[in-house]
Amino acid sequence: MQELLKIVLDKKERIYKARQEFKSDFAVLCFSLNLSYLFIKNNKNEVKILFEFALNLLKDNFIIDNIYINYNDFFALFSIKEDAFILKNKAMLLENEHSFSRLFDFDVYFKNNVIKIRKQARKCFICDELALTCMRNNTHSKQEIYAKIDEFFDDFFVYLSYKYPIKNDFSTKALRALLYELSISPKLGLVDSLSSNSHKDMNFFTFIDSASELKWYFDCFYTLAYKSSKNDFSRLKKLGILAENAMFKATKNINTHKGALFLFAIMIFVCARCKKDLNFENISKISKKLCANLCSNELNKNLNSIGGICFKKYGIKGIRDEVEQGFINTFKAYNFYKKQDDFKELRTLFYISSIIDDTCLLKRCNYDINKYYHIKNTCKKLSLLKSKNYVKIIKKLNYFYVKDNLSFGGSADILSLVLFLKFINF
Ligand SMILES: [Zn+2]
Repeated sequence: MQELLKIVLDKKERIYKARQEFKSDFAVLCFSLNLSYLFIKNNKNEVKILFEFALNLLKDNFIIDNIYINYNDFFALFSIKEDAFILKNKAMLLENEHSFSRLFDFDVYFKNNVIKIRKQARKCFICDELALTCMRNNTHSKQEIYAKIDEFFDDFFVYLSYKYPIKNDFSTKALRALLYELSISPKLGLVDSLSSNSHKDMNFFTFIDSASELKWYFDCFYTLAYKSSKNDFSRLKKLGILAENAMFKATKNINTHKGALFLFAIMIFVCARCKKDLNFENISKISKKLCANLCSNELNKNLNSIGGICFKKYGIKGIRDEVEQGFINTFKAYNFYKKQDDFKELRTLFYISSIIDDTCLLKRCNYDINKYYHIKNTCKKLSLLKSKNYVKIIKKLNYFYVKDNLSFGGSADILSLVLFLKFINF
């Protein structure tokens, strides 16, 4: 860690020299921006995005006369027309605005003397000690420091995607797919435009409220795919949690789209990553890579959730497996959909129920596996049934489904993905 201290001091020396040269250009006050520790991060492109974000932050907040920017060391000097006291206070606010602002190091110089921004020396970003003390005493391991920096970067990319989402076609089509799936009527047990069926705590409009909130986050998932290049799943998960909170706020704590949100977060992110090479192989490949080991990492952690109970009792993995396997069932369902002549959406919904592990359905069967397989079998028959009374039969069957409180939300989520693939002219 002594070597780390040496790197920090060497950099300080370079900043000092640059400031001496810059001095003639500034009349009274010089302001410096330094990204501390980031020379040890190997992803220079991500550091550059953060550095440029900090530069823009300063340009937005101060009237700047002159700038010197050093992209090799990620530091910049500014001559700023501002009262020193105001400058110090504004800089302190900027340093404390976000968790990742901890990586910005601002200093104000008056005729080459540093004006201390903080009343106390800066604290370590891992513990409560002073930063310099931890560095001198080697308190934290390299791994610990790197992990913390990675965490700050995750926060930064989540913030950037949330604050400046890019409008795009995938998000619009994803919203459209959710609304179409909802509107297909009649369905079995699921909420549709005619009835809440087996879902007494929500209705058609609860879903509209929820879906319209999600559009913003769909744009965020897309944006993240463009800006971020590391820790993608954990960043996507953080954005997903924000989206989930917005959904629960819109529905007054009712789970309308949790499953669909999870699937679309990954689908939109992956489609954005495919760029012009949007095809089944690429979607599948990128999704598999992004979601590698998802089931083993997540299912054992949440054994009391619906997914966890299904996994513990029967080894059924649900939608996590669908993304980990690269949307195999979604593409199967899409191929089935394209071949249908009548009641395409409804038939595809039943087909999906017959091929996927729908943990929502298993839960509504009170985890009775025989009942679950019986319904899957019925769905298989319904997907292929040819009858001029098709809708009549569904309506009749729906009566018993509602009576028995049955529904298959997981299958409806995959149907939304199928409609999405259709809308993007896949
Ligand atoms: Zn410390």
